[in-house]
Amino acid sequence: MTVRRTPNRSSSPGRPEVLVILGSSLTVIAIICIVTFLLIREHANAQQAATRSATTIAQLINADVLRTVELYDLTLQGLIAAAQRDDLKQVSAQIRHLVLFDRSTTARYKSDILLLDKHGEVLADSSLIEPKPGNFADRDYFLVHAFNRDMGMFISRPFKARCDCDYSDEWQISFSRRISSVTGEFLGVAVASMRLAYFDQLFNSLDIGTGSTLAIINDDGVLLAKKPFLQDNSIGKSFAGRPNVVRMLREGSGSFDGVSSVDRAQRLYTFSRVGNLPLTVVVALSGDEVFATWRRTAIVISGASGVLCLALLWLTWLLCRELRLRYSAEQELAQLAATDALTGVANRRTLDQTLRHEWFRAQRSGKPMSVLMIDADHFKAFNDRHGHQAGDEALRALAEVIRANIHRPTDLVARYGGEEFSVILAETDNDGARQIAEHIREQVEQLPSVAGDDQPMTVSIGISTWTTASDISLEQLLFSADKALYQAKEGGRNRVVST
Ligand code: GH3
Ligand code: MG
Ligand code: MG
Repeated sequence: MTVRRTPNRSSSPGRPEVLVILGSSLTVIAIICIVTFLLIREHANAQQAATRSATTIAQLINADVLRTVELYDLTLQGLIAAAQRDDLKQVSAQIRHLVLFDRSTTARYKSDILLLDKHGEVLADSSLIEPKPGNFADRDYFLVHAFNRDMGMFISRPFKARCDCDYSDEWQISFSRRISSVTGEFLGVAVASMRLAYFDQLFNSLDIGTGSTLAIINDDGVLLAKKPFLQDNSIGKSFAGRPNVVRMLREGSGSFDGVSSVDRAQRLYTFSRVGNLPLTVVVALSGDEVFATWRRTAIVISGASGVLCLALLWLTWLLCRELRLRYSAEQELAQLAATDALTGVANRRTLDQTLRHEWFRAQRSGKPMSVLMIDADHFKAFNDRHGHQAGDEALRALAEVIRANIHRPTDLVARYGGEEFSVILAETDNDGARQIAEHIREQVEQLPSVAGDDQPMTVSIGISTWTTASDISLEQLLFSADKALYQAKEGGRNRVVST
């Protein structure tokens, strides 16, 4: 073991720093998870609230449409009942007109109400006492009843009237019922038309905000009404191929998040069928509006959490840097406390610790252990000749030579005191120790001498080795190394003596 270590600033401070990093990382992850959870929940809440209000709007429209359609149906039923009365044939045209269309006055946005015979010819017209001749055998409502006995009330596709009336440009739909004889034979059709302006008026009475839309489609995906009118020609057009419409017609009622195929905007679709009628009300709320508040909250909360996390990470970085600096300072101090300031080799304190440590290790392993005591010869005289600074320089050079000859990590070079050094050689027998000692002695002798001095620096070295055969204590081992050194001095210096 050599003690001269340079402080390692990049070395890991270990567990405390790892714990700080782990703790703050977990905190940041926890903050992110909590914020994400809250934002997801708030998003779901906003969606739920929007769906509730859209459902309410759809229910309002449903109720109004149902009531209106019911009025039209009553009108048709009244017309059919009156038409089948035999006594009406005897009365005047005015009276017959009055009786036939008695119930039709209550129907809102009504257009023509017609009674058609089995060939589609007009028998009676609500707007004229003497009906204009006309044939409607090609209309879908006529054909449907002609070939279908149990149709009930039929709602037609949107169409524009074939008349010179005020509303000839307006879109209409018709409600129709079959007139059958007692035996079920087809006698004709009662048909009442309603202007689709009804839906516009209904939609305009509801505030849905900008960007949102209301629509009514029939079971064929044909658009009957829409607010606002994004495409003027979209009424009467079939949207049955659009994925959103396909889903709505398949599911009947419900809600989902989707992208409008018309304007590519994100919308929250809520849809419901109007009673048993082949109509579906669609309320499509603008995603931008539904989630506007949530988006603002999300920006504020995410921003604040981001700043909080960054601040936490920054504090963690500062703390880790402080921990690293403290760790480096501690390492430096520990090294200083273990090192001799002049030569950089281990000091006496480290020598004593290592001696005990290696001694017990040798006792356990049974492997030999050697100690060198190295003393500079006539060093007092050297100091006297060249001064203390040159003496210090010579001691540093001597320490460097000793250290250069010690290779094993378990060996230790220490300054025992003054111009005296000790070397602990673990797992080294006497021959090995002597070899090292001789190398040291030779290399010290070859050190360049101070200018003008013909006397090279030399050292005397005493060696003592503990083996399992020699039953001595640590103190005796040191004493005998000292004794060997003394003998080397006595023997003329610049020599190695081992006991
Ligand atoms: P010997 O050959 O018998 O060992 O003679 P010596 O003069 O080396 O031994 P002595 O014990 O009489 O003197 C040791 C000298 O070492 C005394 C002192 O001047 C010198 N010395 C001890 N420590 C230091 C030091 O840190 N720096 C310098 N420059 N000299 C030191
Ligand atoms: Mg001495
Ligand atoms: Mg000496």
